[in-house]
Amino acid sequence: MPETFRFWTFCVSECSAAAAIDVGLCERCKQHFCAIHAILATHCCKKYPLDEDEWAAAQTEEVTALRHMMNDEILRRRASERNGGLNCEFDPSDPLGQKRMCGMHIHLRIIFSNGTAWLARILRHNYTSFSDDFSNLCLKSECATLKWLEDINVPSPKLYDFGLRNEPEIKVGVAYMLIEELPGTPLLLPSPSEEQLRKLYKSYADILCTIYKYPIDQIGALSLQPDGTICIGPIVGDRSGTFSQIGPFSNAREYYTTWAEKYLEMICDHQLFTPYSVNAYLIFKYLKELAQQGQWNAFESSIDNGPFFLKHMDDKSDHILVDKDYNVTGFIDWTFARAVPMQGWASPGDRILAEAIQTRDKYLARFVSGPDLVRRFSFALGMGMCMSWDEAVDLFRGLISTAEGIGSEFDWDVWRQNRIAQWAGDGRLQALLLELGEI
Ligand SMILES: [Zn+2]
Ligand SMILES: [Zn+2]
Repeated sequence: MPETFRFWTFCVSECSAAAAIDVGLCERCKQHFCAIHAILATHCCKKYPLDEDEWAAAQTEEVTALRHMMNDEILRRRASERNGGLNCEFDPSDPLGQKRMCGMHIHLRIIFSNGTAWLARILRHNYTSFSDDFSNLCLKSECATLKWLEDINVPSPKLYDFGLRNEPEIKVGVAYMLIEELPGTPLLLPSPSEEQLRKLYKSYADILCTIYKYPIDQIGALSLQPDGTICIGPIVGDRSGTFSQIGPFSNAREYYTTWAEKYLEMICDHQLFTPYSVNAYLIFKYLKELAQQGQWNAFESSIDNGPFFLKHMDDKSDHILVDKDYNVTGFIDWTFARAVPMQGWASPGDRILAEAIQTRDKYLARFVSGPDLVRRFSFALGMGMCMSWDEAVDLFRGLISTAEGIGSEFDWDVWRQNRIAQWAGDGRLQALLLELGEI
């Protein structure tokens, strides 16, 4: 069996365990620990989160260090060369790029002498960063995605240039993309009116229908070939950064099954859900069985075989830019985008979105109005965040109710005992039980 992929191999030097992705990262000493070493007395950091001031100071320190790694002059020159030789300068009002900082990037605004602006999207570099190879795969996939979107006329930032981590010949010093600055502001509306939402979803539905016109023949992420062509390659992790590359796949069952298996591997390696390893193992094994049986698909089984469609993986709305009249001006931040099966692509959402799609494509509208099994079976539990057992079991209760119609009579303890008995021949489960002193 190939070795399980580890995001952060080392705990402390005398420990061979993997660092726990969810509970093992310390924002104070910026080290990676296994679940045991994280709470040992030898790890003497305070065990509560940074307060607001400490958090802001840590971010500024990180971004300042990143800016010191950067050669501004070379990046400026590259931007100028790619924009007809126009002179440009970094926007002095945001020298650290913090105004548009997100989980993985800062954005520096580059203003040209004709008044137009681009963004330098710079990969952050901190203790939660992925390895150089992994970061470069993510970046190249995002670049391929932007080029593909440009080709099919989906409003998204045009890509002008990019550079990878540890690419000495380019000499910018950091991984970056030079992209167009789109008009509009991120949609973070506390309570838009129904009329505003209708307008928004009308242009949103137009964009979805455009992407829908360009099916992709495999499940995977777009990838840039050395000759500049775009093809479909493996999925490069996800937003929570919790698995190695998988795929590409030509079938949805295989995709969701592999996804669940990756989680099982990480649970057994104690990279995730360490406070309740056995329970998490049982849940993900159950999800894997549902995937194998095709139960992630509430529609006709033929859609498991494709075609597949490009999906933006953000679930919030801050990747959608809108103008003051609530027209969508573009989608940004395409890291981790991938082609997915129909049942995971046209995720059911808002009633108004469903209505907007209904007027355009009745076939598509069925999926937007149908049950959202994929989100329920994958998204909620599949995060690399620190989830308490109470939260997890609540999610599982909802999940099993969706899958089997078991409602309030569901009893976790009984289910657990039954499954442990049923899966007595599962060597990994037995090893976990033995390790945790349960047999
Ligand atoms: Zn610490
Ligand atoms: Zn350890």
